[in-house]
Amino acid sequence: MILTITMNPSVDISYQLDNLSINHVNRTNKLNKTAGGKGLNVTRVLNQLNEQVVASGLKGGKLGEFLEQSLNDHNIANHFFEIQGNTRNCIAILHEGNQTEILEGGPTISTEEIESFNEHFEELVSKSDVAVISGSLPKGVEPNFYSSLIKTCDKHSVPAILDCSNKALTEVLRGQYKPLLIKPNIDEIAELLGEQINEDIDSLKQSVSNPIFKNIEWVVVSLGSNGVFAKHKDKYYKVDIPKIKVVNPVGSGDSMIAGFASALINKATNEEILKKANTLGMLNAQETVTGYINLKNYDDLYNKIKIIEV
Ligand code: ADP
Repeated sequence: MILTITMNPSVDISYQLDNLSINHVNRTNKLNKTAGGKGLNVTRVLNQLNEQVVASGLKGGKLGEFLEQSLNDHNIANHFFEIQGNTRNCIAILHEGNQTEILEGGPTISTEEIESFNEHFEELVSKSDVAVISGSLPKGVEPNFYSSLIKTCDKHSVPAILDCSNKALTEVLRGQYKPLLIKPNIDEIAELLGEQINEDIDSLKQSVSNPIFKNIEWVVVSLGSNGVFAKHKDKYYKVDIPKIKVVNPVGSGDSMIAGFASALINKATNEEILKKANTLGMLNAQETVTGYINLKNYDDLYNKIKIIEV
């Protein structure tokens, strides 16, 4: 079983407008409401791959109920921990080729809630083969929180895949317990290392070999249309991907994470792991809906990927 964790999920609303009139009433019937958050995108892709997946994290209030219902409607197993606060809304207004977003900060979590969630997490982890931890932390949660989740994974010998940025990530890199895989994109790794990164092989090799990544088996840098640069133990790989028609690349990193989780639990080779992850990233980029993939195109893309050990 693959466990996915989303600590700060949202109910995402997108409104489509022909044009956005500032300081006026804007009306639309073109809207969409979905359960959002990076971990839930990963979950949806894993579900489409027919992997056994359970989604967890924190939820609260009416929007928490909506989130749970929407996962149930898609037959996605979920076991969220109920908090006092309310799950947030994130709003995207699509207008004149632009995307204007309003993101609520979300609820503040109490110390007692975090302690109870830790127990809830441990119970789920003890039944899992891999844990995927994605996204930002809600207010009230210490920045080193993911270190404690990874410590629990370690206790149960469950590998953890971590996809987060900023302080939540730096704290894990500083900590004693390491995830099996991290996947910063090029901007995230530049921010992490505090320097501009070129996309040439030597610079990327140097970046992923930085001592801050010591003891992390897989360090994967996703490069959008330029594929991936990855380090696995002492091996380095450049993944070249075909040119595709991109519709909406939002969530491609999450789809890629689903690919890593799925390939890892199916004991794939390094080459297969990298091909599956990139294929799923591309499949997501070819669709309008975030976290949706059209598996009909899977083999065609998969067979066009080139893995070069560098
Ligand atoms: P994130 O969504 O985390 O920022 P990326 O944008 O690097 O991550 O995308 C993750 C993966 O999805 C890429 O490594 C690639 O395989 C695929 N992908 C994303 N954008 C594109 C694109 N424009 N063209 C082709 N593949 C893409």
